[in-house]
Amino acid sequence: MASTVGRMDTMMQKRLAARTRGPVYVPGAEGYDEHRLGFQLLDPHRPSVIVAATEARDVQAAVEFAAETRSPLAVQAGGHGLAAPAEGVLINTRRMSAVRVDPRTRVAWVEAGATWRQVIEAAAPYGLAPLSGSFPGVGAISYTLGGGVGLLARRYGFAADHVRRIDLVTLDARLRQVTAGSDPDLFWALRGGGGNFGVVTGMEIDLVPVARIYGGSLFFDVEQAPDVLDAWRHWTATVPEEMTSAVTTLSYPDLPMLPEPLRGRQVAQIQISYAGPLKDGRDLVEPLRSLGPILRDTLRELPYAESGAVFDEPDEPHAYRSRNLLVNDLGPQALADLTKAAGPSAPVMTVVGLRHLGGALAREPRTANAVGHRDATYAVTVLSPVQAGEDEVVRETHRDALAPLAADAVGCSLNFTFGPLSGDEVRSAFAPADYARLTRIRARHDPHGLLRANHVIPPAG
Ligand SMILES: Cc1cc2nc3c(=O)[nH]c(=O)nc-3n(C[C@H](O)[C@H](O)[C@H](O)COP(=O)(O)OP(=O)(O)OC[C@H]3O[C@@H](n4cnc5c(N)ncnc54)[C@H](O)[C@@H]3O)c2cc1C
Repeated sequence: MASTVGRMDTMMQKRLAARTRGPVYVPGAEGYDEHRLGFQLLDPHRPSVIVAATEARDVQAAVEFAAETRSPLAVQAGGHGLAAPAEGVLINTRRMSAVRVDPRTRVAWVEAGATWRQVIEAAAPYGLAPLSGSFPGVGAISYTLGGGVGLLARRYGFAADHVRRIDLVTLDARLRQVTAGSDPDLFWALRGGGGNFGVVTGMEIDLVPVARIYGGSLFFDVEQAPDVLDAWRHWTATVPEEMTSAVTTLSYPDLPMLPEPLRGRQVAQIQISYAGPLKDGRDLVEPLRSLGPILRDTLRELPYAESGAVFDEPDEPHAYRSRNLLVNDLGPQALADLTKAAGPSAPVMTVVGLRHLGGALAREPRTANAVGHRDATYAVTVLSPVQAGEDEVVRETHRDALAPLAADAVGCSLNFTFGPLSGDEVRSAFAPADYARLTRIRARHDPHGLLRANHVIPPAG
C-alpha cells in the first residue's frame, strides 16, 4: 500500500490532532519550521506532518497514524544527529524533557527529548553525574541509543552500558516497558543499535558518583609542536582508566572575532577529563605541558555541571558533515597525515578529532548490548562545516583524510557520523553476527521498515 500522508489534507491533520495533546503542524503552518529544524542545518527533515509530542500517548497516536497510512516515520530531539531528510511523519520530542533523579538508587528517569544538560543539572545537587559527552546540548536518549562515548567513558564505559529500562512505542503503537527480563532482544538492540526499533518515550539510566573532575584543554600551535598528536598517543598508553582524553586539530582563520592566541594558526587542543583526585590529575597531565609553548590553558578542577567547558564546542546551529573510523592502532605516519589533513592547505576547513577509548569501554557490560567494536583503541573523526555547494568537496576531503587509516580500522561509530552512510558503512559499525541479529529484530518490530533512523538498519528478509 502506498503512503497516503504525502497528500495530507485538513481532514487527516484534524483526525491526527484530535488524538494528541501536543500540537500538530503541516507545511506552511506557523511552527512547522521551528519544529522540523534542529542543530544540524544541512538537509533538514521535510515531513508532511509533525507531532510535537508532550507525552507517550502523543507518540502512540503519531506511530499509529504512520502505520495506518504506511508513512515513513522519523524522530527528532535536538537534531544534532540528523543524517538525511525524512518525509512522512516527524515526531518532535523536545517538549518531553522531564528528568527525575532518585539519589538513593543513583538512577535517573529521562524523557525522550531531554538534553544531557538537563540531566546533569538534575543530578548535580546529589553529587551524581550521567555518562554524558563532550557537548551537553545533545539529546540524552539519542546519544545513548547510539552507544554514547562520554567524558567519563574510560572509567565507566558506554552510556548504553548503564541503561536499566526503556519505555518504547513499537510500530504496533503499543507502549512497552523494555528491560533485560521483559524483552531481552529489544533491550539488547536498543542499547547501541540506534533508533531503528521503535520510538523511545523515556529511559531509566544509572548515574555515577562524580561531582567534580579535573578537566579542560591545553592548546598548542602545531607549527611549534608538530608531533603533538603522536606525543598525545604515546601519553595515552601510560594513563589509568580515570583519565579520558581526546585531541582535535584545526586551522583557525585569521579573523578578528576569534581569540587572539588561536587566530591564524593550526591549533591542537588536548581535551582532558580526569575523574579522580585533583593532585593525581595534575601530575598525570604534567608531561603534556612540555610538548611546546601553550597558547591557552583551561585546565582546572570543575564541577561536573560545567563539563561542557572541557571541549567548549560551538552551540550555534550550523551545517556540518563528519565521518569516522574506529582503529586499534595509530602510527606516527598516520598521525602526520591527519595533522596535514586539518592543516591550512586542506580544501575545506577540517577538524580532525581523536578520542582515546579502551578502559571500561573495552569490557562487556553486565547485560550485553549491541554496541560494536569494544576492542577499538581510538576513534578518529574528520568534521567540516559545510557551505552551500561544498558537499562534494567535503565528502572527498573526508574520504582522503581517512584512507590511510583503513588498514588499522575495525569499523565506524554511528554516533560520530554526521551525514548519510551507505548500507555497508552502517553494517561496519557492528560485528557481523550482531548486525544480522539487529536486522532480524528490526524485521520483527518494524517489518515494513517505516522508521527512518538517522542510520538505518534494514529489516531482514
Ligand atoms: C557537538 C556534538 C558533540 C557530540 N559529542 C558526542 C560525544 O561526546 N559522544 C557521543 O557518543 N556522541 C556525541 N555526539 C553525537 C550525538 O550523541 C548524536 O548525534 C545524537 O544522536 C544527537 O542527539 P540529538 O537528540 O541532538 O539528535 P537527533 O538528531 O534529534 O536524533 C538523532 C537520531 O536519534 C534517533 N532518536 C532520537 N530520539 C529518539 C527516540 N525518542 N526514539 C527513537 N529514536 C530516537 C533518531 O534516529 C534520530 O534521527 C555529538 C554530537 C554533536 C553535534
